[in-house]
Amino acid sequence: MKRELQQLIGEESISDDGRKVEIAGNIGTPNDIEGLENNDAEGVGLYRTEFLYMNRDKLPTEEEQFESYKKVLESMNPKPVVIRTLDVGGDKNLPYLELEKEMNPFLGYRAIRLCLDKKEIFITQLRALLRASKYGKLRIMFPMISSLEELLEAKEVLENVKKDLDSENIEYSNDIEIGIMIEIPAAAVMSDILAKHVDFFSIGTNDLIQYTTAVDRMNEKIHHLYSFFSPAVLKLIKMTIDNGHKEGIWVGMCGEMAGDQKLIPILLGMGLDEFSMSPISILPARRLIRSLKYEDAKRIADKVVTMGKAEDIENYMSEVLD
Ligand code: PEP
Ligand code: MG
Repeated sequence: MKRELQQLIGEESISDDGRKVEIAGNIGTPNDIEGLENNDAEGVGLYRTEFLYMNRDKLPTEEEQFESYKKVLESMNPKPVVIRTLDVGGDKNLPYLELEKEMNPFLGYRAIRLCLDKKEIFITQLRALLRASKYGKLRIMFPMISSLEELLEAKEVLENVKKDLDSENIEYSNDIEIGIMIEIPAAAVMSDILAKHVDFFSIGTNDLIQYTTAVDRMNEKIHHLYSFFSPAVLKLIKMTIDNGHKEGIWVGMCGEMAGDQKLIPILLGMGLDEFSMSPISILPARRLIRSLKYEDAKRIADKVVTMGKAEDIENYMSEVLD
């Protein structure tokens, strides 16, 4: 690692004029913690739990899950850890569930939809999460929320699992934050109302771009249409952050955009509170944020939301960074 980046270890992620944010890391397994430690992550902003369920021939047990969650929470403690509940379907299939083949898997039986339908899978995961919550600072996040109904149902399942644990005298933390991913345009549009029911939002731009612009994120042929600089997506991001803040909750981002140097000034200026990214992007992001003024970033953000073309926004950001 370059010395210049190494010197940022232990430093705050704060703009030159004092706007402090959290820079966290995305992980897929407890083994990824080492990368977070080496790069001085301020927390885990996205633990994709689906890898626990993949490459095997049956569902992971409550005990197996508990051990993994506990390991991550304990090693990061007292830093916060956002653990996302199961997000399979779409491009990630679990052969042992014998799911029907779908015409449009990304618009299909995926993530929270599957969990609310196969409640036993969801309940097992929530039990493991609650039990592990004693070992650190847990934030539970539901993926692919598209409506208030889904969010309320997921929360109700969680409350019932808590009651079950109470009746079994099993302890869990009473200080767990509950959040959702904003990765479906409907959720961004409804974020004023959804914000009243959660402690945080985390914007999943990988899917938000795909669903907003109707561009399959896996399709190479139309890859040129998939852009971090999509003005439509930027408007939805701004709307989500503003709506979250109106209700007094924090708003993060765990899609790839959060670690992109050309996007960071815009996101900082829009008021994003937490940036979660792959570990190697953390220190470069901290360096950039420390070099920026929040007041300037706000002006940049205000300007880009008036621009109509992704290409113009990208060119403008290249100029800004120069
Ligand atoms: C996203 O959609 O931006 C996200 C972080 O989730 P995933 O990439 O796992 O779908
Ligand atoms: Mg996603």
